[in-house]
Amino acid sequence: MSGIYIHIPFCKQACTYCDFHFSTSLKQRDAMLHAMQQEVNSRSSELDAPVGTIYFGGGTPSLMSEQELGSFIAQAKSTFQVDANAEVTLEANPDDITSERLAAWRSIGITRISLGTQSFREDRLRWMGRAHTAEHALASIDLIAKAGIASWTIDLIYGLPGMTLEEWDEQLTIALDHGVPHLSAYCLTVEPRTALAHQVKQAMVHMPGDDDQSAQFDRLMERMETAGLDHYEISNFGKPGHHSRHNTAYWEGVPYLGIGPSAHSFNGTTRRWNVSNNARYIKALDEGTRYWEQEILTAAQRTNEALLTGLRTSAGVAIERLEVDAIGRNSSAVERYVSSGHLVLGGGRLVLTKAGRHFADRIAADLFVSDDAG
Ligand code: SF4
Repeated sequence: MSGIYIHIPFCKQACTYCDFHFSTSLKQRDAMLHAMQQEVNSRSSELDAPVGTIYFGGGTPSLMSEQELGSFIAQAKSTFQVDANAEVTLEANPDDITSERLAAWRSIGITRISLGTQSFREDRLRWMGRAHTAEHALASIDLIAKAGIASWTIDLIYGLPGMTLEEWDEQLTIALDHGVPHLSAYCLTVEPRTALAHQVKQAMVHMPGDDDQSAQFDRLMERMETAGLDHYEISNFGKPGHHSRHNTAYWEGVPYLGIGPSAHSFNGTTRRWNVSNNARYIKALDEGTRYWEQEILTAAQRTNEALLTGLRTSAGVAIERLEVDAIGRNSSAVERYVSSGHLVLGGGRLVLTKAGRHFADRIAADLFVSDDAG
């Protein structure tokens, strides 16, 4: 199987913490959609395997009309071999949700909604610069739960300045009381060149310490386990049958095609990324000039990617995916993490324990290899 990612590069307003590529001006909307459809046509020969997942991300894909989204789905089906049971995910913001739109999304083939809730508290939403209100956050999940969409998920953010364990617990209780079948929970990080980074630099905002964020992550794991949502990736929890097939394929190294400005693609050996600039993307598609860069990954780079993505999953990374012997080359680090109870090596896989999940990226980095080392 393979996947298609479609990046819709528009948002109503800029959230303070966000470093994704988007524009708050919709002036180029029609030209952008035309350019993206040109890109799909020009890359029709790039996916060998049938398409198992289509994912509309952004940006805010729910800003697009049902007709526009439907035309992408129809184009994907006529251009590639799309599996009859493909998962088709739409990222949507709570202020864009109505029962009419949910019915329309369902009718064009959307099978999964990923809702950018982030918080159920008005003060937090205002601080984040979100376009929706706490009322939208609650009303939208009630509407989705009744809409007959095959699966859905919400995003929540923890590790916010001043967030207590009680506040985080309350957020999780609201989500669980509303029957969420899947939750993506992200710890707030300060990305360079965001409004939040500026506020932190000016000491207008003080980020919480690692201990607070770590305690909130522990509470998250406890609450989801009790509620029967599998912790199948560091930030993702889902009931059986509701895990994200698109993201799971990405973590397993399955090839995918990324359409739109800033979108990344991977074909098993080459990683490619489109220009993160709407005007340049449109102009290049119009003139038939190059709008992407790419690099052919070395065996060591492919091994490191497998470690970085695989170790974040509950299934861990299959040793056979490690083209370079990262375990042999880093045997002392592996032994250290195994004996400290952070890592398990067995059954042909390397898997993080619950304690190890706190340090997933650091452990992966300690097992990285380079091409030239013996
Ligand atoms: S809606 Fe999403 S993509 Fe747009 S600015 Fe906010 S976090 Fe970023």
